[in-house]
Amino acid sequence: MPTVAYRCSSCLDHTLTRSFDVSHISIKCPNCGEFARFVHEGVLEQYEAFEESPPEDLDWERLGRMEKFLVCEKIVRQGKTIEDFEVEVHADEESDDEPTSGDQPTPDEQSHDDESTPDE
Ligand SMILES: [Zn+2]
Repeated sequence: MPTVAYRCSSCLDHTLTRSFDVSHISIKCPNCGEFARFVHEGVLEQYEAFEESPPEDLDWERLGRMEKFLVCEKIVRQGKTIEDFEVEVHADEESDDEPTSGDQPTPDEQSHDDESTPDE
């Protein structure tokens, strides 16, 4: 029977093994005593990988720990990619409303000097 390891998100030091595969379990950690969230080991591995080298397309550093776990959980267990999170993560984009530079019509009136206008 396949088992899944879950690690305490509080002390990151205690691992539990369960026979079911969920994103996390909430249980009192026997190690640190916190009622903590035990995070799926695969998710945690992804989390640690991102901690080492944050994904370029995501503002990783600005996420809280739980948000990070959530992102990793979706990537690892739901097959999402970083691109899927661009909407959820609040990137405060400055709207760059640059006024369109004055669009002046170029004078296109050339004086046509018809030299050869026959005089009547
Ligand atoms: Zn713990």
